[in-house]
Amino acid sequence: MHQNGATAIAIDGPAAAGKTVVGTRLAKKIGYRFLDTGMMYRAATVAALDAGADFEDLKQLTDAAQAIEIEARAAGDGTTLIFINGTDITSRLRSHEVDSRVSIVSAIPRIREIMVEAQRKLAEGGGIVMVGRDIGTVVLKNADPKIYLTATLETRAERRFVEMQDRPGQPPLEEVQETMRKRDDIDSSREASPLRPAEDAVIVETDDMTVDEVVCKLSDIARRVVS
Ligand code: C5P
Repeated sequence: MHQNGATAIAIDGPAAAGKTVVGTRLAKKIGYRFLDTGMMYRAATVAALDAGADFEDLKQLTDAAQAIEIEARAAGDGTTLIFINGTDITSRLRSHEVDSRVSIVSAIPRIREIMVEAQRKLAEGGGIVMVGRDIGTVVLKNADPKIYLTATLETRAERRFVEMQDRPGQPPLEEVQETMRKRDDIDSSREASPLRPAEDAVIVETDDMTVDEVVCKLSDIARRVVS
């Protein structure tokens, strides 16, 4: 247990490093709640698309994000459903349209402030695995352990391509990789909370690991605080 009584595990890393799959399984295994913060930035992007916002106009994007109420509800199968003003928009969150725009929305400082405040509130009471880009560096600086999950761009693009390949309108692998590269670039170079490992993060490179192996490794890392 952490010294302030609130236990939180932070998992950060670039797109499609496996944070959600692995984080969900880890949380289930140790009886923690799970929050994928990327879903929140994706929901704000869906709201901006629905509002017909101009993606070069930061005020329009911020207004669209402020006008909605985002709610995360646990589904029976262990996944999370995301609602905007009571409507389930989960199936739209991972579309190519959202993938290619979400980094514009998440780089806006005011939007980050709103999201971070909501994330900290959700972490109150502890017992949570939170995944994102800035959890260990900004949102929950006291999280223990902090994990930085990563893999090469090629591995990650391939994983995302396979995961999405049955979707209508799915772009070819090269385009998935290019969209991911641009997203990683924006996420790592933005001024507000750029993607980077926390100084005290354990870095886990997953290129040659199966999901089971990564879950095992993270459980081992978490064991010293959870047991
Ligand atoms: O993790 P996922 O790929 O779903 O995240 C979507 C986007 O949301 C990221 O590319 C990033 O721009 C943003 N994000 C963020 N901070 C977080 C989580 C996600 O900026 N904590």
